[in-house]
Amino acid sequence: GVTVALFTRDLRVHDNPLFAGADRIVPLYVLDPGLAGLSANRLRFLHQALADLRESLRGLGGDLVIRQGDPVTETMRLARETGAERVTVAGDVTGYARRRQRRLRDDCESERTELRITPGVTVVPPGAVRPGGGGESYKVFSPYFRAWSATDWRAGVPAPSRITLPDGVATGNLPTVPHGESPHAAEGGETIGMRRLSAWLREIEGYADAHNDLPADGTSRLSPYLRWGCVSPLAVAEAARSRGAEAFVRQLCWRDFYYQVVNAFPKISTEPYRPSGDTGWRYDEDARRHWQDGMTGVPIVDAGMRQLRAEGWMHNRARLITAAFLTKHLGLDWRIGVDWFFRWLLDGDVPNNSGNWQWVAGTGNDTRPYRRFNPIRQALRFDPEGVYVRRYVPELKGIDGAAVHQPWRFPEPVRRSLDYPDPLESHRDEAVWLRP
Ligand code: FAD
Repeated sequence: GVTVALFTRDLRVHDNPLFAGADRIVPLYVLDPGLAGLSANRLRFLHQALADLRESLRGLGGDLVIRQGDPVTETMRLARETGAERVTVAGDVTGYARRRQRRLRDDCESERTELRITPGVTVVPPGAVRPGGGGESYKVFSPYFRAWSATDWRAGVPAPSRITLPDGVATGNLPTVPHGESPHAAEGGETIGMRRLSAWLREIEGYADAHNDLPADGTSRLSPYLRWGCVSPLAVAEAARSRGAEAFVRQLCWRDFYYQVVNAFPKISTEPYRPSGDTGWRYDEDARRHWQDGMTGVPIVDAGMRQLRAEGWMHNRARLITAAFLTKHLGLDWRIGVDWFFRWLLDGDVPNNSGNWQWVAGTGNDTRPYRRFNPIRQALRFDPEGVYVRRYVPELKGIDGAAVHQPWRFPEPVRRSLDYPDPLESHRDEAVWLRP
């Protein structure tokens, strides 16, 4: 029988459980006008990934059917057109995805079509590992990591060897790839993602030592490909585990961790997981703008914020520093950060973005809500020579070594010559914040 496979954020051919057990498959992607609000960066990455997926499916004799409209309506329409007996879609946890899943379930039921919800967005499906004592989700990472590590991972799914579309199915056009906003953004797609993965596996050994080193850029940069499913989280985790890269596998588990949090607490993007920490945010438009523009006058913060704009990506250590600066230092609401990151990040997704923001802001689901980061101490530790700052803040290029982290310490004439802002009025209290 025919299966309509609705692709969502699993834009790949390898290890895609959408294909499991189906003999005749109709791959579908629905461009939902409701997602027109996707930022230019993300839209561009998505369209590149779709073009690449279509290319791969054509190589297998099939195609990617493109429809526009409401994903549920269009899926059911295509199922009727092709006489499909089954619809498959990857299980996902956000509010949007759950509504889609519920409506698919209802419509499939009334049309006597089987609905199969498949895994594949995470390594271990959200909810598959639950704490003892009947809780919905783990609130703390370490016990989750232990339980997660001890589960049997599912077997990978081989790519189909051939796909034949039923006669007469209109395949539809992909709109041209839109322009993004970040000049140095990574390009989307399974082909590039797999290339990135195999290059990364040759370097993965160094991860435990290098992943916090800002100038070394010693992380995988796989996050956008994981976000859009251009690479399989399971395949990445298995490859890493087989190389003994425990520190890296642990980070992949963090990703799964936030999915299971959202699964139990869907409102994570706007509501605090731990309300008691979610008060007292200041209103300060000026500070907000300076932070967003990478013009706070604190070089390590500005470097991170400018990397975000230039690349649609930011190093994890810089995300921590900039997020702590916004919430703990400027005292601004973490939701401002969630929105700004979401607009620029190619890897931006609800569970990881909001989960991490809440972790930093202290409104999250962990046990250390009063975490603080001193930006200068962080800078001296993770960018000891100032290489990262000079890479992203050209105004400071002429300053050698670690002195670049505290330009306010230069004599007045030197400072004036830099064309770089002084730290904002609201956080000039060096005694409290800026002293390493
Ligand atoms: P690597 O270090 O190579 O790690 C491999 C993979 O592990 C990543 O691709 C990612 O999938 C996962 N991972 C690593 N660190 C984390 C983490 N702290 N939480 C969850 N998963 C992790 N990650 C996102 O994927 N999307 C987001 O929207 C996002 N927003 C963030 C916001 C803030 C404020 C912070 C502090 C972190 C955020 N992260 C987010 C987590 C992390 O910064 C990125 O996953 C990482 O920097 C991606 O780069 P990489 O692929 O080179 O990571």
